Parts: sequence; C-alpha cells; structure tokens
Amino acid sequence: MAYQEQMRALEALLFAAGDPLPFEDLALLLDVGKDEAIALAEQLMRRYQRDPLSGLTVREIEGAVCLATKSSASEVLENFFGKIRGQKLTDAAYETLAVIAYNAPVTRAEIETVRGVNSDSVVARLIERGLVREAGALEVPGRPVLLDVTDQFLLDFGLKSTRDLPAMDLLMYDTVMKLSEHMPHEASGSPVRKPLVIAIDGPSGAGKSTVARLLSEHLGILSLDTGAMYRALGYKALRLGISPSDEEAVRAMLAETVMEIDLSDRVQKTRVDGEDMEPFIRTPEASMAASDISVLPVCRDYCVRIQRELGKKQALILEGRDIGSYVFPDAPVKFFVTASAQTRAERRLKDLEKAGVETSLEEVIRDIEERDRQDSSRKLAPAVKAPDAVEIDTSDMTLREVIDTMLDVIRKKELDQPGWRSGEGRE
Ligand code: C5P
Repeated sequence: MAYQEQMRALEALLFAAGDPLPFEDLALLLDVGKDEAIALAEQLMRRYQRDPLSGLTVREIEGAVCLATKSSASEVLENFFGKIRGQKLTDAAYETLAVIAYNAPVTRAEIETVRGVNSDSVVARLIERGLVREAGALEVPGRPVLLDVTDQFLLDFGLKSTRDLPAMDLLMYDTVMKLSEHMPHEASGSPVRKPLVIAIDGPSGAGKSTVARLLSEHLGILSLDTGAMYRALGYKALRLGISPSDEEAVRAMLAETVMEIDLSDRVQKTRVDGEDMEPFIRTPEASMAASDISVLPVCRDYCVRIQRELGKKQALILEGRDIGSYVFPDAPVKFFVTASAQTRAERRLKDLEKAGVETSLEEVIRDIEERDRQDSSRKLAPAVKAPDAVEIDTSDMTLREVIDTMLDVIRKKELDQPGWRSGEGRE
C-alpha cells in the first residue's frame, strides 16, 4: 500500500472501529509492522493537531489507538449528549474515581474502606456514565465484583493508561525505595542495599493480615503472610501423624518438603509439595500446630530462608512475628500492630464462625493467650517489637484509621529525612 493509501485506510479504520484499535490489529489490517502502524497513527494525530478546522484528534490508550474529539469541541458535544454526560462530577465521584483508578481492580468493600463511607450509589453513577466498569470477580468466598476504570475515563482525562496517573500513594513506594537506597557503604565502597521491606509484626488476631493487604494495595507492593508458611508446615506434620514439636521427625519431614509461595495473584498461595494449603490451615488445630512447629530452629531456618529470598527479589510487605526483629532487621519501615487479647479473640472468633468452625470465645481467648506465651517466650526469634518499630494498638481503631496511621508514618519518614531522596548526607 502506498503512503497516501495507508493514511486514508488508517483514518477510515479508526472512524469505523469507534473503539480503540490495538496497534497489532492495525498493523495486520494495514499490512505493515507494528512500529510503522504506530508511526502512521502519530502522523495522523499531528495532521489533526495542525488543522484548526478539524474537531478531531487521535488518542493512544493502553497500546491501542482511536479517533477522539478535541477538547475545544467539548461544549458543543455536551449540548449534543445532554444531561447525563453534561453533568459535572461531584467531589464524591472524583474521589471514588481516583480510588478505583489508583487501586484497580478493586472491590466495592475496598473502596468503602478507603473512603470511609458506602460508595455503591456513586459507583453505580460512574458505571452509568461509562467511566467505570465491572472487570471480573475476586476469587474469594462471595466472589465480590472487581471494578476498573474504562477507556472512556482515560479518554476524558487525557491519559494513555492508568500508569500515566500522577503518582499519589505510589509516591510512597518511591519513598521506601529511596529510604532503602540510603545505606552506609561496605568497606569495599560498594553500597549495601537495604531490603525494600515493610515489616508488620504483632500477635495473632491484631489485624495484621487485613492491614498488610490494604497497605499492599495502596502502595502497589506485594505482601506475604509468613504465618501461613508455619501453618502449612504444622498442618503437613499433623497430616503425616508427626508431632509438630518432634524436632527430628520435623527435620526429616522438611528434608522431603517443597514449599512454594505464589504471590502472582491477589490471594497468596502457600503450596506444599504442589498443593495449596490455604483451605486447611485456618483451624484452631492448625494454629496450634503452627505455633508448636515454629519454635523449632530447623523450621524457622526453612521459612526464614524463603522469606529473605522473596524480600531480596522484590519490594515486599511481610507480616509475621519476627520480621522487623530477625528476618529483616534492616527493613526501612517497621510496624508492631497489636490489640488487647479480648479484642483479638473476638475478631478471631468471627473469622472462625465464618469458616464454619465451632468454638467459644473462652476457648479462643485461651488459645490466643497460650500462643502469645509460646511465641514470645521461645528462644529463637521470639515475637517481640523491634526497637525501631512503630507500635499501633488497633483495639479501638477502625481499619481506615490504622491504614492512615501507617501511611502517615511512611510520609513522615520522607519529611524527616529529605536527604534520602537526593542522596544528600550519604556516607
Ligand atoms: O500469623 P498467624 O496467626 O497466621 O501465625 C501462625 C503461627 O505461626 C503463630 O502463632 C506463630 O507461632 C507462627 N509464626 C511465627 N513467625 C512468623 C509468623 C508466624 O513464628 N513470622
């Protein structure tokens, strides 16, 4: 196809397609390479931009391209499309859109947690306006719907992709990066890299898992539930009829055990010998087995080695008992999340009831106190607050307050040590 023919074909295709056309499809249709298709689209865009008599332009969205109207034509288009699209967005709608755009895919409950108010009607209006869409369901009980922004949102806000959004909470991820870069140099002169780790420690039932998950969504950093690893190993021992306190039997078991942690999905998979153990490890028996087996040095070594490997590979939020004090003592941000035994037992009881496990509050309190005692009195890596960890007692706090407090700590770290960013004051 000659150049003029290609340009005519491109314009006609974009007009007829209406929706964004991926560059790969365009390349096939025009019988050119993908780079050439991109170059042709850019030429068409420049032509429109130069032409004051045209109300059109070309927009690129997520590796696709479409015809769009110039912003100078917005008034006449609003008159044409009338009320719904003409209405201005409310502050609540903007806020909800921002929560969805920055955290997508996100559930309604997560939006509510971030905004602190029920947002269902705002979400419904955003769907009606074509700015938000349903994008599948989360693979957890109840299969809550996941929401994402639409191409229309990207078009209206002049973005190529949600990656073009100005960094907000993600800025804090950057902060953690900077914090971890600012490290004393080794004798050899090469900088020692601090692990890019946020440690969340604390006793069972303090709400660590939930805050770790929400923080992970805010910051765009994966999170690892280390308790699940001890639970999975304790459960394997129970299944084999091995006492989780029998060091020699556990050593032999671990020699034959392959544990893999899959964080690629939003729901952690803790696989032991190829089997995801999550469905079996939340019972009181598995909790006690975890507490027993985690006392054994051979078991701690096994799990800590995997945790350190994962933390070396990528930025990671780790929640557990000894992350800030033992696994990653150099973690740049550490929290110790706690709550009264009564509050923790009430929360754990709710979880157990949801999972169909029959028990009583008294029994759960007993279990929790016994595990607290065992976890904090063991010789190796006891569950203790690291001296530089920020303690948060969640007994009388809402989830949102806890997350806000943690985000404030991360922001403040940046304010207190602005040199981290520029590298000033490096040794
Ligand atoms: O956090 P979770 O209740 O799932 O942890 C189960 C058990 O695993 C804890 O009671 C504790 O004994 C053990 N554990 C540990 N070190 C960690 C995480 C959990 O010893 N980092």
